[in-house]
Amino acid sequence: MVILSHAHPDHIAGVQQFPNAAVVMMRKEYEFWMSAETQTRLEACEIYGLGPLEVVMAASVRDHVAPARDRLRLLDRPAEIAAGILVFPAPGHTPGHAAVLVSSGRQQLLYVGDALIHPAQFEHPDWVSASICRRGDGTHAKAVAGAGCGRSVSFRGLSPAGRLARSKRGRHRSVGNRLSPRK
Ligand SMILES: [Zn+2]
Repeated sequence: MVILSHAHPDHIAGVQQFPNAAVVMMRKEYEFWMSAETQTRLEACEIYGLGPLEVVMAASVRDHVAPARDRLRLLDRPAEIAAGILVFPAPGHTPGHAAVLVSSGRQQLLYVGDALIHPAQFEHPDWVSASICRRGDGTHAKAVAGAGCGRSVSFRGLSPAGRLARSKRGRHRSVGNRLSPRK
């Protein structure tokens, strides 16, 4: 099973490496990128202001996600797709962006995709990146309810994985660069 947090090129180019795997993503994300309107606007470089890169984004969805349509599992709401693996909406970076919460016993790992691109955003969920497509409401950060929950931040984060703790103001902050067993 492959879970797509969202359909930006750097998150979907490997889908065809797993030709027999079910591919999970939010229906809203799939329909946004596959819509004729989005494809047309990307071809005209009208969505992100990224010039020709938007043409690449449109082609990437067609080349990597569309061929997997027969094995797509599109989610309309949060879903536990396997024991302890919860996929839920974390919109903002893209309209149908998803995060993944993996639970095992008392341990949890939150994969945030590009919903957060820097650990500082855990403490400041109102900070957004220039690449945001539609501003999120911080629910992805708020979803990390327990101090000590593991989290994973994707490539732009200063650390690929680490732990969270509550700050004095009740917010979360990133502490440490690596996941380690809970004590
Ligand atoms: Zn992205």
